[in-house]
Amino acid sequence: MPCPIFSYDGENDWFSLKQRLSGRKNPDSVVQDRVRAILDNVQSNQDQALVEYTQKFDCPDFCAEQLRVPQSAIEAAPSEIPPEDLRILKESIANVQAFHERQRENSWWTTQEDGTVLGQMVLPVGRVGLYVPGGQGGSTPLISSIIMNAVPARVAGVDQIIMTSPPRKDGTLNPYLLATAALLEIKDVFAVGSAWAIGALAFGTPSIPACDFIAGPGNIYVATAKALLVGEVGIDMVAGPSEIAIIADDSANPAWIAADLLSQAEHDPLAAALLVTTDKQLPNRVTQKLERQTASLPRGEIAAKSLAEWGGIIVTPDMDTAVKLTNRIAPEHLELCVSDPWPLLGKIRNAGAVFMGHHCPEPVGDYFAGPNHVLPTLGTARFSSALSVQNFYKKTSVIAASKQYVREHGSKIARFARLEALEAHARSVEIRNNDDEEVNDAT
Ligand code: NAD
Repeated sequence: MPCPIFSYDGENDWFSLKQRLSGRKNPDSVVQDRVRAILDNVQSNQDQALVEYTQKFDCPDFCAEQLRVPQSAIEAAPSEIPPEDLRILKESIANVQAFHERQRENSWWTTQEDGTVLGQMVLPVGRVGLYVPGGQGGSTPLISSIIMNAVPARVAGVDQIIMTSPPRKDGTLNPYLLATAALLEIKDVFAVGSAWAIGALAFGTPSIPACDFIAGPGNIYVATAKALLVGEVGIDMVAGPSEIAIIADDSANPAWIAADLLSQAEHDPLAAALLVTTDKQLPNRVTQKLERQTASLPRGEIAAKSLAEWGGIIVTPDMDTAVKLTNRIAPEHLELCVSDPWPLLGKIRNAGAVFMGHHCPEPVGDYFAGPNHVLPTLGTARFSSALSVQNFYKKTSVIAASKQYVREHGSKIARFARLEALEAHARSVEIRNNDDEEVNDAT
């Protein structure tokens, strides 16, 4: 099934396109019920539930002793992978670290003339649970996910990171995952995946410590578990299936565009890859390249399904319409494959990350350049941002009001409280301004 081609002329075409795009949204109630049952089971039966689910889904002979990855295995991992790969991991970590250092925030204080001090303490969240997607039986370890989550947490000052990922058939984790954990000085690593891992991170079990915050993407079961646990723990975001929109003009190379669409489509049958173009020749050229390239991809079947069901090549009459449409879609990744991307950038309002020009394919950001690859999906870039150091901060405001401050402003504050019919609020201020000690003592 090929990638469908649409024409888009504005408002009238938006409704049908929106219907198509929003089809990927909410997990159905069957998934929610299943995940709720998993979470209840983990809360009640703790490690025993983790072992049973892991035996059923990932590793038939799994036992409780395999939940915690031994420190020796983490420490040995960097020497078990080729040195050239270790160098790439180190360079990627350094780039991501340098980018996120710029997001660091400091506590601040201001002193007013009467001596009142106001401030905001910027504090790291306590213990962070980091979910690293691994696929069934640990078959698709997302090594980069560790870097993209652990680096901003570390920059924020988080000192304890609890990492989990689904084990392979023999109960172990992929050495690249462990080597990356070692490079990031993560000492608590657990071989457990899916919704039951999220439950363990939220509630705690005898093996896995309860966390204050859970970060990291994952499949529908992981995402649903995180969504159901909001309030019980903090979460970074509910990361949906990956998506890309590419705005292209007649300067775009059809083979490169096809390769970029496939780079997202291969993630997941639910991934969405969209091309928005003003060039009427481009759709057919890209379609031909898609067919040829998909045939030789190891994950070609997944990519073909994603393109047929959720992908699209959309032809607009002009670049303005293309940009307006893209702002409505609010894609996770947006490539501007046009001759001069900079004038377009000023018109982009909603996108998780923008990749500028013909020489900046999305994987540059996935693995290496420095910005975070955990990005808002499913249109949420309209109101939310990439994972950042800020996700791992809590901010506590501080008021140190002077005696003079309460003298000067007390009556206004008391009046405000009475406007809300909260008499005790008013009195707690007034009692401090009452000079009559006898009255004060008797109150
Ligand atoms: P995963 O670790 O999230 O899921 C695998 C786990 O789910 C395994 O433990 C497996 O046994 C379990 N599982 C399989 N079938 C199950 C079922 N029926 N019920 C409960 N659990 C089941 O890894 P994945 O499956 O490869 O998914 C990774 C996801 O993360 C993809 O959807 C990808 O698009 C997404 N992702 C998103 C971002 C982002 O920033 N938005 C980044 C990276 C990855």
